[in-house]
Amino acid sequence: MSGEFQDHQIRDKIGINYKYTMGGQSKFFIELMNNKKILGTKCKKCGKVWMPPRINCSDCYEDTDWVEIKQTGTIQVSTIVWYTTSAFIQAVPYGIAFIKLDGTHTAFNQGIFSENLVPSKVKKGQRVRAVFQKEREGKMTDFFFVPEGEYERWISKPEYEGGV
Ligand SMILES: [Zn+2]
Repeated sequence: MSGEFQDHQIRDKIGINYKYTMGGQSKFFIELMNNKKILGTKCKKCGKVWMPPRINCSDCYEDTDWVEIKQTGTIQVSTIVWYTTSAFIQAVPYGIAFIKLDGTHTAFNQGIFSENLVPSKVKKGQRVRAVFQKEREGKMTDFFFVPEGEYERWISKPEYEGGV
């Protein structure tokens, strides 16, 4: 024996069932799941429309009101994903982008899918529209975005639930 420490490692798994709350942002996820609506919040003082929604305005610290947001928007910045976690591996390659939905003042990160995923379809300035999963759980993965010109073809697929 050399006297050097050698640890012994065993690979194992721990299964945990748990719940977590969306707290004050629960309304966003409930409306997404039940009604295919995208809600943001509007500051009662300065009128800034936040998406993702914020319970308080981060600019002036005032309360906000829930407002329904249009489901169309414009890509601000984007990339194409080739490496991801097990939850999304089946979808590779796909786009992700910061999208500014029409009528909002902030952008949020969401998946972009395209029938022909090339950089020219997932780039700054591209107009996109939300498509909703038929089976929704009140998660961000309940919806994604597609280039506006592909919208009608995406919503006609059986795994996605028609237009709004
Ligand atoms: Zn404000």
